[in-house]
Amino acid sequence: MDKREKEKKAYLLFRQKRVGIDFETEKRIHFKVKGQTEEYSVIFDKERKEFTCDCKFFSLKQKFCSHILACKMLREKLGKYSHSIPRK
Ligand SMILES: [Zn+2]
Repeated sequence: MDKREKEKKAYLLFRQKRVGIDFETEKRIHFKVKGQTEEYSVIFDKERKEFTCDCKFFSLKQKFCSHILACKMLREKLGKYSHSIPRK
């Protein structure tokens, strides 16, 4: 899978609203991504600022997969508004 194809796939996941935040803790954000056949869990570590995914592509290559890219897109979109939410 080349980079462009991966980005396109990620964009489609994002646009079709297949990406969502499952829950958020102080240290992590847990995302759910609905793939074609399976559902994937993507975790964003706030301290390390790192994404991990439980799909095969990520575990084999340790590179961003389309699921992580889709979660990044969602975060960027939500990030625009999150500044106005008061945090403790
Ligand atoms: Zn993945």
